Amino acid sequence: MQKHADIVDFVEITAEEHISVAHHGMRAKCLQRLVRLDLPVPRTVALSFDAVRRIGLGERVDARDLLSLFGPAPLVSVRPSSENTEWGGPASILNIGMNDARHAQLCETHGQAAADAVYLRFIQSFAVHVARLDPDMFEEDDATPESVRAALDAYAEETDEAFPQDPATQLLEVLRSMARAWGATTARLLRQARGAPADAGLGLLVQDMALGFGTGESGSGVIQFVDGATGQRKIIGRYLSQSQGRDALNRRDGSLYLIHDDRGEALEDRLPDLIARLKRVGDTCRINLREEMQVDFTLQAGELKILDAVRVPRTARGAVRIAVMLADEGIIPREEALTRIEPRAVSELLHRQVDPSGPRNVIAHGIAASPGAATGRLVFGSAAAQASAARGEPCILVRRETTPEDIRGMHAAAAVMTERGGMTSHAAVIARGLGVPCVVGVSDIRLVRRDGVLITADGRKLHEGDIVTIDGTSGQVILGPVKMLEPALDDAFKALMNWAEDACDIGVRANADTPADAQTARRFGADGIGLCRTEHMFFEEDRLTVMHEMIFAAGPDDRAAVLERLLPMQRDDFHRLFEIMQGLPVCIRLFDPPLHEFLPQSREGVRELAEALGLPVSDVNRRVQALSEFNPMLGMRGVRLGIAVPEIYDMQVRAIFEATIESSRNGAPVVPEIMIPLVSAMREVELVKTRIDSLAAAVRTERGVDFDYRLGVMVETPRAALRAHEIAQYAAFLSFGTNDLTQMTYGLSRDDAGRFMGSYVKQGVFAEDPFHILDTDGVGELLLMGAERGRQARPDVVLSICGEHGGNSESIDFCRRAGFDYVSCSPFRVPVARLAAAQLALGAPRLSE
Ligand code: PEP
Ligand code: MG
Repeated sequence: MQKHADIVDFVEITAEEHISVAHHGMRAKCLQRLVRLDLPVPRTVALSFDAVRRIGLGERVDARDLLSLFGPAPLVSVRPSSENTEWGGPASILNIGMNDARHAQLCETHGQAAADAVYLRFIQSFAVHVARLDPDMFEEDDATPESVRAALDAYAEETDEAFPQDPATQLLEVLRSMARAWGATTARLLRQARGAPADAGLGLLVQDMALGFGTGESGSGVIQFVDGATGQRKIIGRYLSQSQGRDALNRRDGSLYLIHDDRGEALEDRLPDLIARLKRVGDTCRINLREEMQVDFTLQAGELKILDAVRVPRTARGAVRIAVMLADEGIIPREEALTRIEPRAVSELLHRQVDPSGPRNVIAHGIAASPGAATGRLVFGSAAAQASAARGEPCILVRRETTPEDIRGMHAAAAVMTERGGMTSHAAVIARGLGVPCVVGVSDIRLVRRDGVLITADGRKLHEGDIVTIDGTSGQVILGPVKMLEPALDDAFKALMNWAEDACDIGVRANADTPADAQTARRFGADGIGLCRTEHMFFEEDRLTVMHEMIFAAGPDDRAAVLERLLPMQRDDFHRLFEIMQGLPVCIRLFDPPLHEFLPQSREGVRELAEALGLPVSDVNRRVQALSEFNPMLGMRGVRLGIAVPEIYDMQVRAIFEATIESSRNGAPVVPEIMIPLVSAMREVELVKTRIDSLAAAVRTERGVDFDYRLGVMVETPRAALRAHEIAQYAAFLSFGTNDLTQMTYGLSRDDAGRFMGSYVKQGVFAEDPFHILDTDGVGELLLMGAERGRQARPDVVLSICGEHGGNSESIDFCRRAGFDYVSCSPFRVPVARLAAAQLALGAPRLSE
């Protein structure tokens, strides 16, 4: 350690010196590991986060003293080293120490071309990154004595000073400029967006330049042994041979391509020894650093130097395969492979994604409500979406907001965009369930259906048929088609999911309404269905008509007669769900929405319905009006409808029991779970339970077959949470519906919150959108109270969460700690939730275990 009382310290990286990621950054720590592995690393000096911070504040570093470590004619590089290489940082500066004298010397030893190339590159990067001069003035690419002269003159002209010739001055300026660049506000905001804490530090590394040219085979390059995009084993790299070609160092091709020299010859054939040595370096890194590294190297007259090694940059798909390969090779334990993958990144693997490397013309932004991306022609209504699907043309359904009537259109669409809405609006919930990319709350567009145009913030008019891409992962609306990455449910992904299942200590079920959802749920390894929203089954073409007849029935008898026709359809629905889930639990929620959702809103729709029912338009209008409510979400829906119009629940429950008997015939007995929505009082449960029990008795007698079922309550009103001890007396399980519970706890409409949520979050009123991230303080307190009170009355009550929060890591953490039995989320989030739950279990076993 070099210690001087009044100036900033630095340390040489040796095997013994104390170097830590927390003080010197990841790159410094990696280099020390390479040193410890006896790899030929050029001499390197590390400046700690604290030292760099102080340099940024104007304190001195004894650059002359530092440079003396590198001999009488030092030539060094400076590279950034923060805790995480993905946070970015200032550009590395190479060849510090180059000046007129050194240039003349290099001309003699290595030739004019090489000397010009090195000097010109240094002048350019010093001018742009340190003196912050206009990059356009220093663009000259061909290194010649004239271009070197021109660059020196341009520097002098712009700064009124000659280009610094003293290596210590050069180094000092470089260190200062890099320290200040790190402290700049824009750089801080950028790295915070990439996950860095506000006070993240920067270390700097000063390293002897291994120039990569000389007599004999010389050159410089970078190599890695996996493809970061796919994680497949592959040698990828770049090597610029100096001894074979002229001025190779002057090339500025930053991209990686299959390793070859600058004449296009296969390097493996020409320099088999170099490749063999590099492969050994790769193996050493993999085994000892337990990671796939990208290695920066030079070859100087046959002598290999390893300048740097960083984690191979990778996509989510690459990360999964690399982690699984390292575990399969016994280099890391499976548990570690699980913790190395960011759960959110897993959802990238399940859907098509916009290729981040391609260009995109973003025309609007909204809330990223359902991940994945799709390109298609704009359509502004469900009928047009269905027509488009029938023609085999992918389409993007745009609506101001969707209603249950749009479900068929959403099914037909490749992606959905709505002007209004938030994370739990109808469009968002349905799209996630269907796995359809969706962006909601795109308030900077305006849909004018009358004129058939979509107007963007800058006044651009788009028409039906125009092609756009919806990126439900980023919330962007993009004009035209873009390059896409395909989903990756490959063997590596499946292996990781199996390991996650083994590690998990909380169940993960899926919210699945249809056989297709149930199949997805099984494919993604769900432990069962945690919420089947049965009303979605009534929006199919043939059933909607019967629903309408039921709504227009003259009285209970008429209604019961119409429901008779729905019974076999529902029975068939449940039978298929039970078959697909093969003995796994299936929780069926009884009818929940207000009836008016099934009625048309438009005059045209009312006329069509009148025609279909053979009624005068005025009758239909009267009924529509009679059913309309000021606050339908707080009105006649859920259990309230179940009590006021009990025939609907009777039909559904009978269908469940009959399907149970049928499905149990072929295999393991099915034990259905029946869930009552929107409960707020014990008596509601008591009334419904009495009816269900007597129906069960009736079906048992009729069929002469015994079966079991479990009755539970959806806790989604604050009162249900507060009175959970009463309710639990009648409920074998309590499932917290955090969408409605959030809506009612905040008194905030889940369908309209998108309008101002952005500005609320920006101004810090809410830390996050509570419909997206569970509000553990407020809504969470109701969950804890409900759980505790429910357990008081019934210690074995099964607890779960089935709102859209169910798939988020934060809510899974909360539910695990509260001792919940399972979470339930949309089928496409099951793998994400599973991995998050496994990571939580590995990090902190449950208190009860
Ligand atoms: C809920 O309210 O949290 C819930 C799951 O039900 P829905 O979204 O159907 O209202
Ligand atoms: Mg609800």
